[in-house]
Amino acid sequence: DQPRVKFADVAGVDEAKGELEEVVEFLRVPEKFHALGARIPKGVLLVGPAGVGKTLLAKAVAGEANTAFFSVAGSEFMEMLVGVGASRVRDLFSTAKKNGPAIIFIDEVDAIGRQRGNGLSGGHDEREQTLNQILVEMDGFAPNDNVIVLAATNRPDMLDKALLRPGRFDRIVHLDLPDINGRRDIIKIHSRGKMMSKDADIERLARRTVGFSGADLENMLNEAAILAARANKKTIDNEDLENAALKVKLGPERKRMQSEADRRMTAYHEAGHAVVMWAMKTLDPVTRISIVSRGMALGFTTANPEQDRYNETKTRLKELIAGMLGGRGAEELVYNELTIGASNDLEKANGIARDMVTMYGMSALGPISTEKRGSFGYNDFERDTYSNELMAKVDDEVQKILRESEKMALEALTTYRNGLEAVTDALMKEETVDAERFRDIMSEVTGIVRPINDVVTTLR
Ligand code: ADP
Ligand code: MG
Ligand code: ZN
Repeated sequence: DQPRVKFADVAGVDEAKGELEEVVEFLRVPEKFHALGARIPKGVLLVGPAGVGKTLLAKAVAGEANTAFFSVAGSEFMEMLVGVGASRVRDLFSTAKKNGPAIIFIDEVDAIGRQRGNGLSGGHDEREQTLNQILVEMDGFAPNDNVIVLAATNRPDMLDKALLRPGRFDRIVHLDLPDINGRRDIIKIHSRGKMMSKDADIERLARRTVGFSGADLENMLNEAAILAARANKKTIDNEDLENAALKVKLGPERKRMQSEADRRMTAYHEAGHAVVMWAMKTLDPVTRISIVSRGMALGFTTANPEQDRYNETKTRLKELIAGMLGGRGAEELVYNELTIGASNDLEKANGIARDMVTMYGMSALGPISTEKRGSFGYNDFERDTYSNELMAKVDDEVQKILRESEKMALEALTTYRNGLEAVTDALMKEETVDAERFRDIMSEVTGIVRPINDVVTTLR
């Protein structure tokens, strides 16, 4: 028998844990609730992005309540022949009831429980039958079955409403990406049993990993252990952790032959991002600029938020866009030419500009909201409600924001052209320029000293 997962093994999702504590209690002492005539929930839906610990938390509920744990994934049913899925569901529920109290965990429930008849999902008999069987089973639970179904999804908007009706998955528990405290705790959990160097700075690592999921963090620590072992080290040090973090976030380092001319163009591009970010008043300090390619990116530039940010201003969003356009701006300024390397920057910049107009009312169109967004993506159906005239105006406003931000970027690059040149030269020689080095270069050529700190967000 494997050691059972407990709540203590799951960090950074305190609210979700709090809500599931109740479920643990239902499973542990169901009599207490039956005696008062309380209806015990049958289904709980865990909602959150990939890797935040939905599966782990479901196991922890079973571990805490000391019940049996049965699990299936929605995708498994997709390959089955018609009828097999439904009988699989029947078996699963009957085994669970015999072994009650028990947890049944249905992962990727959206693969089965997709909305019917919206024209997007297409006909799929097997899925319908499987879904129907799940509903039949849940509706048929007797009070003393003591089985609770947990299901997980990252697309709650896709779910068939029938699943969410009272008596089915009528409780929804949200899990989010961990904040700094959560990340620190998750790093601690997964450092257990690893030989960490005494000076390994977990606090700093937690600060630098904004946007990492629990799975990313676990992956990062494992990667760091592998790097340390390959370098024949006795312990995992900050250098291993740093390289592992970049690897997890950006994909493995891409070894690729590049001409000097290519490298210089990449260097200008990255230096362009860095100098514009440096010049903007509200942006976080640049922490690392590199022309060592990783994943799909030729180079990257990273900056440091002082803390997790929960709100953004119009000024900051425009400056962020300017930073994203800084790479392309430098290419334009230096070569009077554009490359395809900026497509990812453009995509991000356009996304923010559109959100500013359609969601945040930050344009001349005023307080309109034409885009409905749940926490996990756009719902395009809403767009039909708006006139083509309004949509054309939205496009104009998006373009206006992008033009203004582009102008800010080009002005910064022109004003600090000597900084752009100096940083590019440093990148050509050293490939990677860190926060201190960047501050020194910029202060030397401009006389302006900007503070630095050390958390990472990425701009390619
Ligand atoms: P999800 O089901 O949300 O995609 P998983 O539970 O499968 O995420 O997470 C994969 C692995 O990542 C877990 O087994 C665990 O090692 C690690 N992990 C994810 N989230 C957390 C967390 N909140 N606390 C601790 N470890 C986590
Ligand atoms: Mg999972
Ligand atoms: Zn770029």
